[in-house]
Amino acid sequence: MYESGEHRELGASTLLESLGKVRFEPSGDVSDWRTMILGTLLEAGKEAARAWSERAARPAETPQGTERTAEELHELRERVLERNAQERLSVEQYKAEATWQAFERIPTLQPEGWAHATREQRAEALVHAAGDAERVWSVPLGGVTFERMPAQGLCEHTSEGAVITLHSSLLELDHPKEAVKTLVHEFEHAYQWAYVEGARQAGQDALRQGWDVTTAATWARADAEYSDRWHRYANNALEHGANLRAAAAVERLYLRSVPS
Ligand SMILES: [Zn+2]
Repeated sequence: MYESGEHRELGASTLLESLGKVRFEPSGDVSDWRTMILGTLLEAGKEAARAWSERAARPAETPQGTERTAEELHELRERVLERNAQERLSVEQYKAEATWQAFERIPTLQPEGWAHATREQRAEALVHAAGDAERVWSVPLGGVTFERMPAQGLCEHTSEGAVITLHSSLLELDHPKEAVKTLVHEFEHAYQWAYVEGARQAGQDALRQGWDVTTAATWARADAEYSDRWHRYANNALEHGANLRAAAAVERLYLRSVPS
């Protein structure tokens, strides 16, 4: 059974508030600017996590002397559901950007660097990238290994965290794209699993704590409905999400020209 006790999902508003306290002053040097943004995001994440813990520790606020009709309660619930869903998406956007910026700073994951690297150096770079993703997303990883196996990639949940296995043939390709795509796909599964577990552990309090419970429930159902039949597999919500994230990584890292 997978334990995700350390997992904390940050409220986007808190994260944005924290970001608002920092002035971005991009210099001419893009790499310095990226380093600063990444550092700021990680700092803002830590601050938001502290604020989140304090908020979660407070007792539920129940208005005194107000009777709400069933209709009002339903509307309130709908609003909270919608807000939580939007918060998750904006937090994910920031985390994804911080992840791609961290990947960009690994020379071996650049096409030129990869082309001149050994298999061992390529493996090392991918393990390093997974460590960056682990820190940005606060999703515990049990390790990244390379094997010859039927699938391109695999994500298994263990008591140490998610263990990611990548097909070793990915290390032999002349471009890093496929390896990064597979790593990001499998890491997204680790995140999805941690999210479902986090929301499940919050239980009755999940909505108030800011969990996007609709998505967590959809992912939990998709997890239970995994099928070997290809069309069902491809249409599974978890696969769809992982493919989207992987495509975003490739687009951002290898297909979009970055100003220098
Ligand atoms: Zn998958």
